[in-house]
Amino acid sequence: MTTKIWIGAHTSAAGGAFQAIYEGEKIGATTVQLFTSNQKQWQGRVISPEEVALWEKALAETGIDQVMSHDSYLINLGAVDPLVLHKSRQAFREELQRCHLLKIPYLNFHPGAATTASVDECLSTIIESLLEVEELANSGKTQLLLETTAGQGSSVGHRFEHLATIIGAVKDRLPIGVCIDTCHLFVAGYDIRTEEGMEKTLEAFDAIIGLSYLRAFHLNDSMKEFASRVDRHAPLGQGKIGIEPFRYLMRSEKTRHLPKYLETPEGPAVWKEEIATLKTFASL
Ligand SMILES: [Zn+2]
Ligand SMILES: [Zn+2]
Repeated sequence: MTTKIWIGAHTSAAGGAFQAIYEGEKIGATTVQLFTSNQKQWQGRVISPEEVALWEKALAETGIDQVMSHDSYLINLGAVDPLVLHKSRQAFREELQRCHLLKIPYLNFHPGAATTASVDECLSTIIESLLEVEELANSGKTQLLLETTAGQGSSVGHRFEHLATIIGAVKDRLPIGVCIDTCHLFVAGYDIRTEEGMEKTLEAFDAIIGLSYLRAFHLNDSMKEFASRVDRHAPLGQGKIGIEPFRYLMRSEKTRHLPKYLETPEGPAVWKEEIATLKTFASL
């Protein structure tokens, strides 16, 4: 029996979203993550029918699927400032509309940052923001994936309990799930350096959130120390996490079927090697 393994990287959409698909093919990826708009601008990109056609052609030609969109870094669905919150909600809605146009199955987003509010207030604002797109979310097939964060500054989402609160409040009304970022998890204080540590962490995830909500991974090693809450990605096996948990994730029954995306810093040449290594792990 052969089961497909979805492994890829965050490739570049410069020149059009479809370019990210072809870049994925060049590095041996079976899936990719991309930004559907400039991640550092509020002004969202409009996707033309021509671009949709090129996108569908690229998917058909390469066999790449399970694509993930990463939302703009500016979006804070838990913002205190009303103007920032308004712009964030508008931009998030447009992110989801672009995903629907391109039939992208996953929209990964950072939950939000509390700034001057408490964590609980921030979580409530995020829940309200998500419920605002309820109708839109149910008009397409894109799942909204909360990303586990490093807990830098006032950002929420670095504890499984935060994600459980959000999911509990929206799960009956929206397609919602979680994308685990291994670097973020580690610097947030979940010790995944060994197979045992990863097992325990997934058990905690199951107890607090439920493994049925785990949909994808960002695979990154960490330049920074355990529990430092500082987010700096490293190539796999070259950071403070080491290679072991990545071998585990490619092989464990709990995680091998889930799509995985590299966001390691060196770019396409190294992604190609990392993807080849990860595929080897999966086949052992
Ligand atoms: Zn992210
Ligand atoms: Zn990160």
